[in-house]
Order: sequence, then C-alpha cells, then structure tokens
Amino acid sequence: MSEQKDLNQLGEFGLIDHLSNEFTTIHPSTIKGIGDDAAVISVSETEAMVVSTDMLVEGIHFNLMYTPLMHLGYKSVVVNLSDICAMNAKPEQITVSLAFSSKFPLEAIEELYKGIKAACDVYKVDLVGGDTSTSYSGLTISITAIGRVQKDKITYRSGANEYDLLVVSGDLGAAYMGLQVLEREKEVFKANPDIQPDLEGFDYIIKRQLKPEARKDIVEFLAELEVVPTAMIDISDGLASEILHICKSSKVGCHIYDEKIPIDGATSLAAIDFNLDPATCALNGGEDYELLFTVKQSDYEKIKGNPHMTVIGHMTNENDGCYFIDKNGSAITLKAQGWNHFGQ
Ligand code: ADP
Ligand code: MG
Repeated sequence: MSEQKDLNQLGEFGLIDHLSNEFTTIHPSTIKGIGDDAAVISVSETEAMVVSTDMLVEGIHFNLMYTPLMHLGYKSVVVNLSDICAMNAKPEQITVSLAFSSKFPLEAIEELYKGIKAACDVYKVDLVGGDTSTSYSGLTISITAIGRVQKDKITYRSGANEYDLLVVSGDLGAAYMGLQVLEREKEVFKANPDIQPDLEGFDYIIKRQLKPEARKDIVEFLAELEVVPTAMIDISDGLASEILHICKSSKVGCHIYDEKIPIDGATSLAAIDFNLDPATCALNGGEDYELLFTVKQSDYEKIKGNPHMTVIGHMTNENDGCYFIDKNGSAITLKAQGWNHFGQ
C-alpha cells in the first residue's frame, strides 16, 4: 500500500525523473537523452536520428467497446510519429511490439495491422521490426518511431526565449469531447443495449478521438516557410501541460489568451452539451496531437495568415510566471490538469 501511495505522490513525470536520476549518457553520439519528445542521436556531422517510444494499454489508453481495431492500429502509429514531428524531424521507420491474451482472434490482430499499414502508407514510414508476446489479459501496443533531421533544424522543448510568439497548429479540445461522447454512449448502451448510439453531429470530434493525425504537414510547411521554431512539443496531455513543459525546459514564462485558442465549432457545441467550458477542454483535454511551438517575433510575417497555425500568446520572463488571460482580461495561473495515469 505504501509503495502505491509513493507512486501517486510522484506522478508520471516525477517518477520518470526519480528513475532516470542515476543515469548519465556516456556516448558523444547521444545528443539528447531523456526529457524531450524524442531522443536525439548523432549520425553524421550534419544529420541526427530521433527516437521515441509510446505505449497504449487496453483499459487505460483505449476501450475496445468503442474503438475499432483498425483505428487503434492507426492511432498507435500516429501518436509516435507525432513525437518525431515535435522534434521538427521526418519519421522514417517504426517497430511494433504487441502483447495480447488468447481471447484475441487472428482476425482482430489482422484488423489492428490493417490500421498500422494504413498509417505506414499515409506517413510513408517503414515497419522494420517489433516483438510479439501473449499476456494474461488485454492488449498492449508499444511502438518505437525513428526519424531523421538536419542538426541545425532540431527543435527541443528548451529553446524558447522571452518575447517569442507561442503558436499552435489546427484546433484543440476536439479529441477530448469525442471521448466524452463515446463514453456517454457506452454508458447508455450498458444500461440498455437496445438503444442505438446517438452520434449524430459528432463526426468531427469522434474522428479526432479515434483517428488522430500527426502534423507532419506542419513540419513541411515550416521548412517551406524557412521557419525553424525555437521550441516545439506535441499536444498529447493538453495545452496547459505542454505549455508548462516548454516554459520549464526553456526557463521562460508565458501569457496565453483565451480568445486566441483555436476551437472548432463542433467542439464548442459538444462542450456546451456537456456543460463544459470549451477553453477548459482545450487546456486540459489532451490527445489533440497538434504541434505547439515558439517562433521569433521576426518570423511573424512568415506564419501570419497561415490557416494551419494560430498565435495564442507569447513568452515572458521566467520570473513573470505562466498565465492564461481570460476573456475579461483576468490573468489566471496556468496549471497542468492533463492526463495523469498515476492519479496525483
Ligand atoms: P511524450 O508525452 O512526449 O510521449 P513522455 O512524457 O512520455 O513524453 O516522456 C518524457 C520523457 O521521459 C521522454 O524523454 C521519454 O523517453 C522519457 N521516459 C518516459 N518513460 C520512461 C522510462 N520508463 N524510462 C526512461 N525514460 C522514460
Ligand atoms: Mg510528445
């Protein structure tokens, strides 16, 4: 019991810090170890390889009651490619490791692999290996993604400076609202299996939950615009949590503005349906897999008017703190309330 309590107190990030404390890197080729979206390994004078692993566990990250296996396969790849994109790198290979119980028929694993194949085709990545095991219960998928980047284009979480602009791709909060709708319909179905799920009007947000995309296109747009962000992270745990990662790593503060946060109309409507504030869903929802990055003010002209990118705030001095400015102009301290699988 006491061990469990300690884990809860540490939280996910505290635990990673705690465990990795004793490790130092010894190879000069290890440019960046633990602490960013992907590790960075030198492969030549000008190029680096980036490597990232993410694990999806049944009952924690997905529910097979409403997650089609093909979508799950696709999403498992995408969440890993998203971390590669967050380094401003191009994904090239993946490995796939699976553990599943004997209750899974061959057809189910084939469906999962159809999704994995679809993602490999869309993102032009090669499946180059993996591992397969049985498990006592449930399905676990662990994917490692490998990418490539020019050394002078690598974008860490730690490079943001005071006065830089904070930019986000796409729109936020949709995947979280999609999850709320799916969870609600699951409960209705459990109570009465004869009632058909009511998903009318929720197509966009459900798609954002079940079939997210990695913003490889944003990395390409930035290259075309000749903009190298000063810092970047992907939004897996919610905007607030990711902004705080950038602020902490870069030793800066920030101001973000409520009215600037891009939220799709369908997300707002669903949020209102659930009595939730759309901005709260964007701040704390997670699983958007959009890119959050900072750029120098002098790059503003290049990204201005781009329909895929929205400036939501700017970086400040570390001592000024991290604030969300609401629609009335009140400054509220930014707090991370994203997913934390260890409770906390
Ligand atoms: P992301 O949300 O971008 O996938 P995480 O929050 O999962 O990143 O991980 C943050 C950092 O901690 C990464 O560098 C990751 O490789 C590292 N990390 C996570 N879990 C472990 C672990 N069990 N052992 C060593 N490093 C880990
Ligand atoms: Mg990430």
